[in-house]
Amino acid sequence: MSLNVLFAASPSRWSQYEAPLNEAFKAFGVKAVLGLDLPPEEVDYIVYAPQSGVTDFTPFTRTKAVLNLWAGVENIVTNDTLTQPLARMVDEGLTQGMVEWVTGHTLRHHLNTDLHVKGQDGIWRDDVPPLAGDRPVTILGLGALGQACGKALVDLGFPVTGWSRTQKDVAGIACMSGKEGLERALATARIVILLLPHTSETENTLDAQAIARLPQGAVVINPGRGPLIDDDALLAALDSGHLDHATLDVFRTEPLPPEHAFWAHPKVTVTPHKASETRPCSAARVIAENIRRGEAGEPFLHLVDRSLGY
Ligand code: NAP
Repeated sequence: MSLNVLFAASPSRWSQYEAPLNEAFKAFGVKAVLGLDLPPEEVDYIVYAPQSGVTDFTPFTRTKAVLNLWAGVENIVTNDTLTQPLARMVDEGLTQGMVEWVTGHTLRHHLNTDLHVKGQDGIWRDDVPPLAGDRPVTILGLGALGQACGKALVDLGFPVTGWSRTQKDVAGIACMSGKEGLERALATARIVILLLPHTSETENTLDAQAIARLPQGAVVINPGRGPLIDDDALLAALDSGHLDHATLDVFRTEPLPPEHAFWAHPKVTVTPHKASETRPCSAARVIAENIRRGEAGEPFLHLVDRSLGY
């Protein structure tokens, strides 16, 4: 018998995902009808993104799991109508994209690229940037994305410190956890990269106190989520000269309103939540594998812990 899989995302995504999902279902032996509009009581699995507008899961009486298309789940994790297992996206394409974005922006600041790109002013600057080994980087969040970015930066020669909720052991990365671990991780960071999920625990991780622990001249790179940073504290630290620059991909309000101070600030780079995106072909295989698992009675991959919020 065929399964019914509802594609509950923005309709504009349908053309990107329809073929890859159907191909992946075939490759993983999943017999399923994929649709944009299926009767809720007949849906077995939901491929989900918040833009779908589905907010009430009560009518989905036979649905076995909700499979999130994105890595972040803050828009669905607190939904009380959702009683089925919720899996988030861990996708090799998304991870590779984040590694590229994070290393690119880290190298931009490390090499002081802006000075030479913008400063075509006839001045023969002979400053020599330090090598990566002299530029400690801290990554807040050592999950799928934080670890991959950390490993790439280690391979480039950066001393990398990572911080997570539970203690990790990752080759080449000085792993820390807990409040004291955060203080130590910040104290050495010439560049700090935020790859935490947005939960009630992580909101304002980079507040005025945390920012004050960063060394003078540190750079903040945030591809995680906007609420991880206290915006006013960040602006104050940039204005006072304590921080050198902030590269921000994510914001409390998105799109970032045109009047927001970040747009015009000379020490802020805004990118439009494009650090990395789920890639249809590789993500479709993750979804198909999870449906295969669900049907085989095997545990789902990448299950969200609803009590932790990620
Ligand atoms: P993940 O695998 O769930 O990893 C999350 C990491 O954060 C884990 O190391 C976790 O610690 C840590 N963490 C969670 N709560 C914490 C706390 N209270 N204190 C300290 N550490 C805490 O997530 P991921 O796949 O790496 O993704 C991370 C985030 O990146 C997503 O949630 C999303 O917000 C963001 N993202 C952004 C983009 C973009 O384009 N800008 C794209 C994709 C994802 P444990 O290891 O101990 O659990």
